[in-house]
Amino acid sequence: MISPIIKIDDKHLPLYRIVWVSDVPHFCGEPDCMHEGDYEVRLDVDDSLWTNGQGRNEVLKSLARWCGDLKPEDDDNETDNESDKDDWL
Ligand SMILES: [Zn+2]
Repeated sequence: MISPIIKIDDKHLPLYRIVWVSDVPHFCGEPDCMHEGDYEVRLDVDDSLWTNGQGRNEVLKSLARWCGDLKPEDDDNETDNESDKDDWL
């Protein structure tokens, strides 16, 4: 089985290292912040990668594709009232 690898910034990363992907650009107000306006991709270690909006969408698409390859659990009975969130698929 091939590990799904994506590239974030200049780093190739297996998708299973990702814990979450930010929905909004980072803002913390720190004057020396290097990641203002970037999207945070949280890793399973105490670390994050940072990417722009397009990169973030690529990550989300890759994650969705990857998760879609797994056997879906049968707890998907909730009504899908968040269809506007599917437009990046
Ligand atoms: Zn910051």
